Amino acid sequence: MRIDVLTLFPEMLDSLNSSLMGKAREKGLYQLNCHNIRDYSSDKHKKCDDAPFGGGAGMVMMPQPIHDCISAVDPHHAAKRIYMSPRGKVLTQKIVKELSEEKRLLILCGHYEGVDQRVLDLDIDMEISIGDYVLSGGEIPAMVVIDSVLRYVPDVLGNSESTVDESFSQSLLEYPQYTRPQNFCGLSVPEVLISGDHAKVDKWRCEQAMEITRRVRPDLLEGK
Ligand code: SAM
Repeated sequence: MRIDVLTLFPEMLDSLNSSLMGKAREKGLYQLNCHNIRDYSSDKHKKCDDAPFGGGAGMVMMPQPIHDCISAVDPHHAAKRIYMSPRGKVLTQKIVKELSEEKRLLILCGHYEGVDQRVLDLDIDMEISIGDYVLSGGEIPAMVVIDSVLRYVPDVLGNSESTVDESFSQSLLEYPQYTRPQNFCGLSVPEVLISGDHAKVDKWRCEQAMEITRRVRPDLLEGK
């Protein structure tokens, strides 16, 4: 998969060089290109934002640098083009899975009060929100999309089973996990997990997942 991120602050994406995503990139399992929108500004001072027409607080990102950046990076519209926005569809595991089937993603990060509507109308396929709250820029939301999507790219995760059992994969939250030591601060691992009986372990995990989901996120069970 190839991912292009368009931002005024490309250095914010550097943390994708660590941990699993960093290793996967080193192995060439995906390609990440960060583009500085400012490089495409035709203004002599490289200005990229201006006051909103109609008045109001803050600044709006101008359409020209963004439009030219998108046209240069994806001239034939080969990528699924996403704008990170609190106004977008809220990201779910289902959307993550669908995006992981794309060959190319282009992600536009807004800043200030957001982006001139005309560039969204002209160039963007979908808007995605990471939740009902407002962040100061689209870079962290873009990293959320990238990390969650890349987990589905073959070989990015060490254990290919990991996306099968985890939270949201079956509209359920994950069961509790335990590791060594068997006793910790007076708390023991549930007996069933050390019984060696795999059928019983599976049944216990399934019951726990149902119970936690019912208690914490009953809305997830409504669609089942
Ligand atoms: N004025 C905008 C509004 O009320 O919807 C908020 C702009 S926000 C301060 C600046 C940028 O951060 C947005 O253009 C968007 O790219 C990003 N952003 C903020 N919250 C987000 C969220 N929940 N999901 C995705 N992107 C978000």
